[in-house]
Amino acid sequence: MAFTVKFWGVRGSLPSPQHPSKQEARLRHVLERFAMDPKVNAKDFVDQLPKEIKNGYGGNTACVEVTSGSNRLIIDAGSGLRELGEELMRNGYAKEPRDTHLFFTHFHWDHLIGLPFFTPIFLTNQAVHLYAVQADLENVIRTVFKKPFFPVPFEQLQSQIIFHKLEPRKKQRIQDFDITPYQLDHPDPCWGYRIERKGKVYAHCVDSEATRVTREDLGLDAGLYENADLMLFDAQYTMMEAVEKMNWGHSAAPIGLDIALRENIKRVFFAHHDPGATDEKIVDAERQTREYLNAYTEQQRRAGKQVREIEWGFAHEGQEVSL
Ligand SMILES: [Zn+2]
Ligand SMILES: [Zn+2]
Repeated sequence: MAFTVKFWGVRGSLPSPQHPSKQEARLRHVLERFAMDPKVNAKDFVDQLPKEIKNGYGGNTACVEVTSGSNRLIIDAGSGLRELGEELMRNGYAKEPRDTHLFFTHFHWDHLIGLPFFTPIFLTNQAVHLYAVQADLENVIRTVFKKPFFPVPFEQLQSQIIFHKLEPRKKQRIQDFDITPYQLDHPDPCWGYRIERKGKVYAHCVDSEATRVTREDLGLDAGLYENADLMLFDAQYTMMEAVEKMNWGHSAAPIGLDIALRENIKRVFFAHHDPGATDEKIVDAERQTREYLNAYTEQQRRAGKQVREIEWGFAHEGQEVSL
C-alpha cells in the first residue's frame, strides 16, 4: 500500500451538525423498525440500514489527511481539523517533537476555522508548517488569531509556525510525498493538489466549479487529474442547482465523472456537500448521478463504445481510502 487518504470533513461552506429533533426522529424510526422484526440481532439490523438513517455524511468542513506510516500531510483546516488534532493527541503525537505539514487550498472560512482548535499549535515541542500558493498566507493566518476573532494572539502560540510559499504547478518533495499545486475554478484563487507516492496518485479537487472542462481549457492544470488513482471532487450541487448557481464556485457529480472517465481516474469521491443538504438529499444526488452514468453508458454502448468501470460515491466523514 502506497498511502491512505482519510476524510475528516466533507461538508462545504459551514459546519452543519444535525438538529436534535432530527436525531430524535431518526432514533424513533429505527426503534420502530427494529421492533417489527424481533428475530434479527442489533448488529445485522444496523448494518442493513440505509446510509441516510444509519449514520449519514457528517457535518464538519474541509479537512483531508494523507498518511503513509508516520508521514502525514493535511489538506485544509476546516472544522474537521479539530477532531484530527484530538486523534493525534490520543495517539501520543505530542509526546515527542513533531512536524505537522498543513496545505491550504484557499482561505474561505470553511477551510480555515479549524486551525485555532488544532491542539498541536499550542504545544512547545511542535513545529507546524503551513503551505499555500497564495502570497498572503502569513497575513491571513495572523488575522485569524487577531482579537476580537480569537482570544489567543498569534504571537502567543507555543508551537513553531513556519510559512511556505508554493510555486504553481511545481512538484515538491515533502516527507516522502510528491505534491504539486494546480489551479481550480473558484471565485477567489483556489489550488488543488496532486499527491504522489510509490506510483499512486491522489487528486484533491475541492473547491472548484470546474468551468474549464476540456483539456484545451485546462491547459497545464490538466496535470492535476491525469491517471489519478483517487480524486476528491467538488459536488456541492446537483446538475440543476449548478446551473442556477453559476459562478458560485462549486460543481456537480456528473461533471466530475466526465473528467474522471476522460482522464483515466480509477476512483472518485464527491465532497463539499451543501450545508443545507440533508443526508436524504445527498442520497438522492447519488441516485441522480447513477442515472446519469447509466444513461451515458447506454448511449456509448449504442454507439459501439465501451465505458470503463469506475468506482465512485459521495464521501462521508471518517471515510478512509487506501491506495
Ligand atoms: Zn469550501
Ligand atoms: Zn471556497
